[in-house]
Amino acid sequence: AKKTLGVNHQYYEPSMEDEVSNRLNMLRKLRADFALDKLELWYQPQLCIKTQKVVGMEALLRWPHQPNQYISPAVFIPLAEYSGLIVDIGLWVLEQACQQLKRLAEVGYTNLRIAVNVSMPQFRSAQFVPSVIETIQRYQVAPHLLELEITESVVMDEPNRVISALQKLKSFGIKVAIDDFGIGFSSLSYLQQLPLDRIKVDRAFINAIDQQDGGLIAETIINLGKRIGLQTIAEGVETAEQLAVITQMQCDEVQGYFFAKPLPHAELMAYLAEN
Ligand code: C2E
Ligand code: CA
Ligand code: CA
Ligand code: CA
Repeated sequence: AKKTLGVNHQYYEPSMEDEVSNRLNMLRKLRADFALDKLELWYQPQLCIKTQKVVGMEALLRWPHQPNQYISPAVFIPLAEYSGLIVDIGLWVLEQACQQLKRLAEVGYTNLRIAVNVSMPQFRSAQFVPSVIETIQRYQVAPHLLELEITESVVMDEPNRVISALQKLKSFGIKVAIDDFGIGFSSLSYLQQLPLDRIKVDRAFINAIDQQDGGLIAETIINLGKRIGLQTIAEGVETAEQLAVITQMQCDEVQGYFFAKPLPHAELMAYLAEN
C-alpha cells in the first residue's frame, strides 16, 4: 500500500472582516505577485487503480503568503475570475504545464499526462483554443498528454460555442475531463453530445462513501461514465476503504491524499521515482 506523501503546508485563512475589506488589496497583491512570477504550479499524482502506477497529474496553483503558508486557490481563484486576471494566469499555467511535460519527457517520463484547470472566463476568451494549440506546438508536447479540466458550469455556458471549441481541441488530440462532476446541474443528455474523455467524480461523493449514501452517487456516476464510453477518475480519495469501494465499482483512476498531496516539482520527481 502507498503512503501519503507531501509537505504539510498551511493555508492562510482570512477572517470574514479581512475578506470583505481586503478583497481589493488581495487582488492588487495577487496581480503584483503574479507579475513578479511568484505563483507556483504544484502537481498531484493520478494513478491507475488496476496497476497502481502513476498515469498523470493535476496541476494546481499555489500562492505563497509566508514561508510554508499559502493562500488557498479556493480563495484567490474566484477573485482572479471576477477580475479577469484568470485569463493571463491561465495562460501562464498552460505554459508551465507544457514546460513541465517537456521536462518530464526529457528525463524519460514520456507517457504521463498533465491536467490543467480551465475556468469559464478563460474558456470564453477567443484566444483560448488557439493559444492552447500554439503552446503545445511551441513546446513540442504530445497533445494527448495535455488534459483540460472544465466544470459543468463551463459546459452549460453556451452550448454551441463550447461544443465547437471542444471539437477543435479534440481534433488536435487534446483530452478533456469534466471536473467536479455531479455538483452542478448538467443536462445528462447534453453531456452525451460533448466530446469528453473523462469524468472526475467529485470529492463530496467519495466522502459520502463512508457517510450518508454508502457510495450510491459515486457508483451511479461511474456507471454512467462507462455507459457513455468515458474514463472515470475519483478525486479526494483519502482512505483505504474508499479506495476499496471505488475499485469494486470499477472506477479507472484515482487521485487523493491517500496516495499523494499536490507536490512541488522536486517532490513530484521523488514520488515518481518511487512509484
Ligand atoms: P479542484 O479542481 O476540484 O481540485 C481538487 C482540489 O482537491 C485541490 O484543492 C486538491 O488539493 C484537493 N484535494 C485533492 N485530493 C484531496 C484529498 O484527498 N482530500 C482533500 N480534502 N482534498 C483533496 P486546491 O489545490 O486547494 O484547489 C482548489 C480549487 O482551486 C481547485 O479545485 C480548482 O477549482 C481551483 N484551481 C486550482 N488551481 C487552478 C488553476 O490553475 N486554474 C484554475 N482555473 N483553477 C484552479
Ligand atoms: Ca480540477
Ligand atoms: Ca475537482
Ligand atoms: Ca472544485
